[in-house]
Amino acid sequence: MHDKPVALVTGANQGIGLQIARELVTHGFTVLVGSRSLGRGEAAASEIGPDARAIQLDVTDQSSIAAAAARIRSELGRLDALVNNAAISNTSKRQGQSVEDYAKLTRPSNVSLDEVRAVWETNVFGVLAVTQAMLPLLREAPAGRIVNVSSGVGSLTRNADPAFPYRSIFGPVYPASKTALNAMTLAMAIELEPTRIKVNAVSPGFTKTNLNGYQGTETVEEGAREAVRVALLGPDGPTGMFTHATLGTIPW
Ligand code: NAP
Repeated sequence: MHDKPVALVTGANQGIGLQIARELVTHGFTVLVGSRSLGRGEAAASEIGPDARAIQLDVTDQSSIAAAAARIRSELGRLDALVNNAAISNTSKRQGQSVEDYAKLTRPSNVSLDEVRAVWETNVFGVLAVTQAMLPLLREAPAGRIVNVSSGVGSLTRNADPAFPYRSIFGPVYPASKTALNAMTLAMAIELEPTRIKVNAVSPGFTKTNLNGYQGTETVEEGAREAVRVALLGPDGPTGMFTHATLGTIPW
């Protein structure tokens, strides 16, 4: 069995996931840099250093997920932390189209069901599928951690408040996918309460990445901070929480 703790970060070839991978290495982990393109994963891993290894992982492809789980077991024999970071915000937003204009075309009344299904396939079902595949390894770990990278825009409590600034873009595609991810997080945390595994959701904040055309206001260091903190929680740390680095607990 590998002598260092092992973390798998999905969608770690760029953005917040790459930064999470980089920081977990500095905390002594061997990090598997999940990437649907092996080449981009290898480039990211070599940028991080020898404790990062690329792993081909498309969270919407069951055979890719199964192959990744089998490789982790045979090559490293352990998995201590799973960071479900991979996500997409849309499949049909046009170049230069504003988030507000895309939101107008993706309301409950007019959204394409194919658009909803494609985004939920990655952001919700992908997380469940990867988690199911990795759970046997996580159950064997001395302190298994699952971190689901969610978003404050998925909070039902916040969106129910007319004063919430992102309320006008709350819709069935990306925001509701994160609401569903929050539900999955809580369900996983409840099931795994009797085990050593902690399951939490984090909100990175509006971060400058490819996901939003680099319009975010936070750096990737700021965006990665809470996921890294929660991946490193000690045995007395909480499970079933939804938190942000500076805002603290976010209502579900
Ligand atoms: P990003 O730079 O676009 O990175 C997303 C990553 O997910 C990429 O590596 C992408 O791979 C990967 N991915 C997408 N579909 C995948 C699939 N089917 N299988 C495997 N990997 C897949 O976006 P980011 O901002 O860093 O997003 C990271 C997380 O933070 C996401 O969960 C996002 O919802 C969340 N978040 C971001 C913000 C923000 O403001 N940026 C705010 C709140 C929450 P490719 O390179 O191959 O496309």
